[in-house]
Amino acid sequence: MSRRVLISGASISGPMTAYWLARRGFDVTVIERSDSLRLGGQNIDLTDAARDIVRMMGIEDKIKAQHTGEKGLQFVDSDGKAAASFPTDKKGSLTREIEILRGDLVEIIVNANPDSVDYRFGETIEEMTETGNQVDVRFASGKTDSFDLVIAADGMNSSTRKMIVNEPDQEKYLGCWSSYFTIPRLERDNDWWRWYTSPTGVIAFLRPDNQGTMRASVNFLSDESDPPHMSLEDKKDRLRARLDGAGWEADRIADALTDVEDIFLGPLHQIKASRWSNGRMVLAGDAAHCPTPYTGMGTTLAVIGAYVLANELAEHDDHTKAFQAYEDRFRAFAEASQKLPPGVPDLAYANSKLKVKLINSGAAIGASGPVQSLISLFTGSGKDKNDFTLPDYAEPADKAAADQRAA
Ligand SMILES: Cc1cc2nc3c(=O)[nH]c(=O)nc-3n(C[C@H](O)[C@H](O)[C@H](O)COP(=O)(O)OP(=O)(O)OC[C@H]3O[C@@H](n4cnc5c(N)ncnc54)[C@H](O)[C@@H]3O)c2cc1C
Repeated sequence: MSRRVLISGASISGPMTAYWLARRGFDVTVIERSDSLRLGGQNIDLTDAARDIVRMMGIEDKIKAQHTGEKGLQFVDSDGKAAASFPTDKKGSLTREIEILRGDLVEIIVNANPDSVDYRFGETIEEMTETGNQVDVRFASGKTDSFDLVIAADGMNSSTRKMIVNEPDQEKYLGCWSSYFTIPRLERDNDWWRWYTSPTGVIAFLRPDNQGTMRASVNFLSDESDPPHMSLEDKKDRLRARLDGAGWEADRIADALTDVEDIFLGPLHQIKASRWSNGRMVLAGDAAHCPTPYTGMGTTLAVIGAYVLANELAEHDDHTKAFQAYEDRFRAFAEASQKLPPGVPDLAYANSKLKVKLINSGAAIGASGPVQSLISLFTGSGKDKNDFTLPDYAEPADKAAADQRAA
C-alpha cells in the first residue's frame, strides 16, 4: 500500500512536494487554510537548480510564457521622475529571464499535480499526535484522519511548525514589515518596476503584471515583531497609516486598498530551526528555512527543497533516514541563502529628504555602498545562489504519464 502523506499549505512548497511525491507513488492530501489558492504577490524568479526541476516537470515553457513583461527597475522620486534606471539587460538589473507572478506559478504547479492529489481548502491542522507508525490528525473542521507522514509547508508563520519543532529562537525578526497586494492599473502606470523611497521610512513598489493590474508592495521598519492576528480590515488600516503623507503614489495606493481582497502583510522573520523533523513530521519551504523576500531566494528554496524531500522519501523506506538525507543534502544551501548583505534592511530606508537624495543619487551612479545593498535587496547578494547540485534520483515509474500531463 502506498504511504499516505498530509501536506499543510498550498502555495509553492506544498504543491511542489505533492507533485514529486505523487510522481513517486505516494498518496497525497494537501490542506490550505484559505478558501482557495492565494494568487497574490509580485514577480518571483527561479535560479538554475530550480529551473532544472521545473524543466524535469515539463512546465518550464509554461512559466516562461507567463513573463510579466517588466522592463527593469527604476528608482523614482516623489514626482515619479526616474532617478536611476536598470533595464533588464543592464548589470545590476533585478528583472531576470524567468520572472513570473507568484500566483501564476502556484497555478501552474497545482495544475501539474495529478488528479490523485486531494486538495482541501479552508482547513488547518488543530492537533497532531504520533502513535506508533502513524500521525493522528484533528483538523479545525472537527474531522480526524491518520497519515504515515505530515509535511508542514505553510510558510513563514506556520502554526504547524510549532507542533513539530518548537524552539524559542527559531524566528529571527529582521526589524521590518512587508506587504504584497494587487491594485488597478491606471493610464499613467508603465512597465517598469518603480521603487520609491519615502522620507517617512516607507519603501513602496509598483510593478506591472501580465493581467492588466499592478502589483503593489509597501515596506517599512517597525519594532513590532509579533502582532496579534490581523483581519483584512486591520491590514488595510495599518497600511493606510504607513502610507499617510509618504508621497509619490501613496494616496492612490491607500485609496485602492478599499477593494483589495487578499493582502500578504506582516513582520519578516527568517526561520532558523535547528532541526527540520520530529518523528513522522517534517518542515518544508518557508516553514523550515524562510530567507524572507530580502534574499529573493524563497521560491527557489521551496522548489529545490520539495524535490529533495520527496525524492529522499521515495528512496528510503525508513522516513527518519529520508529526513536526515534531506537535511544533509539541502540545509547548508538553505542556510547560505539566508545570508543578507551588511546593513540590510535598515540601510535601504530613509528618515529624511537628505537620505532619500543620497539613495537616489547613489542609484544614479550605481556604485555607492547603500545602493549596492539596495540592489541586493529582494534578490540577495548573488553569491552561492547557483551552487546547488541536484542529486540524481531514480526515474519515477510514471514519468511518461507525468510528461503527458505537463504537455
Ligand atoms: C499571498 C502571498 C503572497 C506572496 N507574495 C510574495 C512576493 O511578492 N514576493 C516574495 O518574495 N514572496 C512572496 N510570498 C512568499 C513566497 O511565496 C514564499 O517565500 C516562497 O515561495 C516559499 O513558499 P512556501 O510555499 O514555503 O510558503 P508561502 O508562500 O508563504 O505559503 C504558505 C501557504 O500556507 C498557507 N497556510 C498558512 N498557514 C496555514 C495553516 N495553518 N494551515 C494550512 N495552510 C496554511 C498559506 O495560506 C499559504 O498558501 C507570498 C506568499 C503569499 C502566501
